[in-house]
Amino acid sequence: MKLLPFAVFGFLLVGCLNKQGKVGPSTSAQGTEIRPFLALPFPRGTKCYISEGWTYSAEEQAIHGHIKHRGIDFDAERNTPILAAADGWVIASYHQKPNPINYEGKPIGMALGRFVQIWHPEQGVYTQYGHLERIAEDIPCIKPTQTNDGWDPTFIYQPNGQEIPGWKEIKRGQVIGYMGDSGLYWGTPPQGPDSPMGPSWDEVHLHFEVYQRAPDGMKNIWFDPFAIEGSVADYQDVSQPREDELWLRNEFGLVFADE
Ligand SMILES: [Zn+2]
Repeated sequence: MKLLPFAVFGFLLVGCLNKQGKVGPSTSAQGTEIRPFLALPFPRGTKCYISEGWTYSAEEQAIHGHIKHRGIDFDAERNTPILAAADGWVIASYHQKPNPINYEGKPIGMALGRFVQIWHPEQGVYTQYGHLERIAEDIPCIKPTQTNDGWDPTFIYQPNGQEIPGWKEIKRGQVIGYMGDSGLYWGTPPQGPDSPMGPSWDEVHLHFEVYQRAPDGMKNIWFDPFAIEGSVADYQDVSQPREDELWLRNEFGLVFADE
């Protein structure tokens, strides 16, 4: 997860869309089209980088024991505000703590840490924002639990594409948390959850996921929001829109959530 010397936002200067560039709809598990709807989840002008792509690097594959990351990692300064990438409802948000495993003689922890998950009823997909330094104060703690019959609350992962009465509505661009490295460490186990005393094995970053859930509530389909599905090297040039890409663009390039 080394920081690579390219900036996503350098490409904002690229200008108009390439006429050959095609932004097409993505097809959901239900067969419905998902058109681009995501804005970059940072304040306008934030300098950040993609540090891990859809497919893990060789070292990350060894650590995680599987090939696919199924998300995109963005690196920026600690405490960079994280903004909702689209309108929706906060459907889960809590502190997922790691169960340490051993890697090359060191205990490593890998969990989402403090995270926020948002349901986007219009598109029928979820976005998830992991490893936050902290969650915004007005985001409620919601921790769905699996039961013999499904989930508690029962409707939590069986949305019908409608509003969720009583749930926390969120607007695109709303601050949901701040960038950090929670849920991750490599070395001395932290004294408390994600204490800085436990040196992080990973850099500060946002783990960003887009996915759907099966009728039983489990994640079943993940979307690469850039429609690249490669290793981080393949994300060095995201200036041109790809077919099935889920990011919104304007005449200047990728759209920030607070634009
Ligand atoms: Zn990640």
